Amino acid sequence: MKTCIAALLLLVCRICFSQVLPTDKPEHPAAYPTESQLRTAIENAAKLAKAEDLDVEIFDAQKVGMTQPLLAARLNVATDTCQIFYNTKPEDGLTQYFETIAPNDLPVLLTAMAVHEVAHCIEYREAYVRKRFDKILPPGFRSDSMTVQGYMGAVKSPTLRTWREALADIASVLYLKQATPNHWLELAKGVAGMRHDLARKWPGHDTSPWLYRVIAAGANEPRNQSLFETAFQLRRLYRPGG
Ligand SMILES: [Zn+2]
Repeated sequence: MKTCIAALLLLVCRICFSQVLPTDKPEHPAAYPTESQLRTAIENAAKLAKAEDLDVEIFDAQKVGMTQPLLAARLNVATDTCQIFYNTKPEDGLTQYFETIAPNDLPVLLTAMAVHEVAHCIEYREAYVRKRFDKILPPGFRSDSMTVQGYMGAVKSPTLRTWREALADIASVLYLKQATPNHWLELAKGVAGMRHDLARKWPGHDTSPWLYRVIAAGANEPRNQSLFETAFQLRRLYRPGG
């Protein structure tokens, strides 16, 4: 029974970073990420996860029959591990996106994408393991009466989907600022612009209303607090209409 429940709770996050319009193409753009580059990015993000007492396991998506492009994550609640899947099969849209990326920027951007996936795992852990619904639900949701089963149903709603993607993208932006303080603004604006440009194609992933506000505020991370905890706070603070 426990195994069955665990299997039910293996939640998959479709990759959220996708195409952008190829505006400012670098002269020698980055090629589609290789297995080695994606593994390195996940390993880098795993260090941040480890600081949150969360282990990361890496899998080749194609070998386990997963079709999500580039990166996807799920939490295994039975082992309390974050499973991140990489997919090197080029995806239309993503291919164009990487053509806008300078090779020097690729490693930090890929790690930011892997941090996005770790953030999903951390939120799933707050829900399914720790049951801290007051921390993860948007204002207006009754968190005191929420249950795991109730959350599993609600989590598929468009509102909660974008809410979850906002947390993950804010974590990415915070990582960019931390990792490349002199260059983060350009990269973060690129992520926000991509979300905005693709709102019609992937409305659930349009986190740009959060990201523009977070970026305008300087994406400042309070001291003595993890990047993910800050992301939880900024998601509430800079929610659209908030
Ligand atoms: Zn996501």
